[in-house]
Amino acid sequence: MTDCIFCKIIAGEIPGQFVYRDDEIVVFRDINPTAPVHLLITPRKHIASNTEATSADEALLGKMFTVARNLATEQGLNTSGYRLIINTGAGAGQTVLHLHMHLIAGKPMGERLL
Ligand code: 5GP
Ligand code: ZN
Repeated sequence: MTDCIFCKIIAGEIPGQFVYRDDEIVVFRDINPTAPVHLLITPRKHIASNTEATSADEALLGKMFTVARNLATEQGLNTSGYRLIINTGAGAGQTVLHLHMHLIAGKPMGERLL
């Protein structure tokens, strides 16, 4: 997607602070972090949102959780806890139409929607 900011970050066309990269997943720091740790776990494949994912993407979506888990363990976040969020659709707060999972940690998170 030529006009997708996350595709451009993944392609190295605009800068990103990468913390993990493999052939399917890229993780970089959020430009406007809401917590001391705020990572964006992003598939290289352009999928606009969870709504546009298909069963063919099942392994890829599962891998996003695996990468999140491994990063949380590496960064010592398991004890304090961390939150994984996938905003889907404008009404839910999605602003970048390239599927991504937020990994947020490092401050007390008392606020809950559920
Ligand atoms: P959403 O609201 O779609 O769930 O999350 C999009 C996130 O992307 C926001 O937290 C926002 O701060 C972040 N973001 C937007 N543009 C950029 C950018 O150019 N670089 C980085 N690293 N993060 C961005
Ligand atoms: Zn994209």
